[in-house]
Amino acid sequence: MTDVLVQFVRARLDEDRECALKAASRVEGGSSWAFAEMEVRAGDGAPVTRHTWADEGAHIARHDPDRVLHEVAAKRLQLDEALASRHHISPDQYETCPVATTVDGLDETQAAALERLNEEQRQESGGEPICWVSCGRDARVRRTLELLAMPYSEHPGYTQALAANRA
Ligand SMILES: [Zn+2]
Repeated sequence: MTDVLVQFVRARLDEDRECALKAASRVEGGSSWAFAEMEVRAGDGAPVTRHTWADEGAHIARHDPDRVLHEVAAKRLQLDEALASRHHISPDQYETCPVATTVDGLDETQAAALERLNEEQRQESGGEPICWVSCGRDARVRRTLELLAMPYSEHPGYTQALAANRA
């Protein structure tokens, strides 16, 4: 079930974007960082950290709001492309991925024939059809989602969303 992790990743990307937009709006003259004695403060204004190592300023500048916004946009495209990928369709219905649908390009007749095959399999094995390894669409989507979620592993919802993706 990838839906939970899709929602998790989209929510984290939305948070990154909002944070970058707020940061950019506080920089005079646009979105490039200019700082000298920079402090990072919490939402209540309490200081969280000051420069703690020599290259911290360069590090912060490297991750300025513009860059974060570009990264969020790129990750959203990557997510959308993964979700838009399709299951394998073959002229031979026995080689078509069992979970393919009209969304993947089957016409109504082909989809009905595939469903009949799936029903035969259910009767024989008792299991629901799954995306075949030879198709790989679902495995690729799960992997892309997990990689996109990885930077948010400290988020309290991460473990649950990851578990749902692997269910
Ligand atoms: Zn498939």
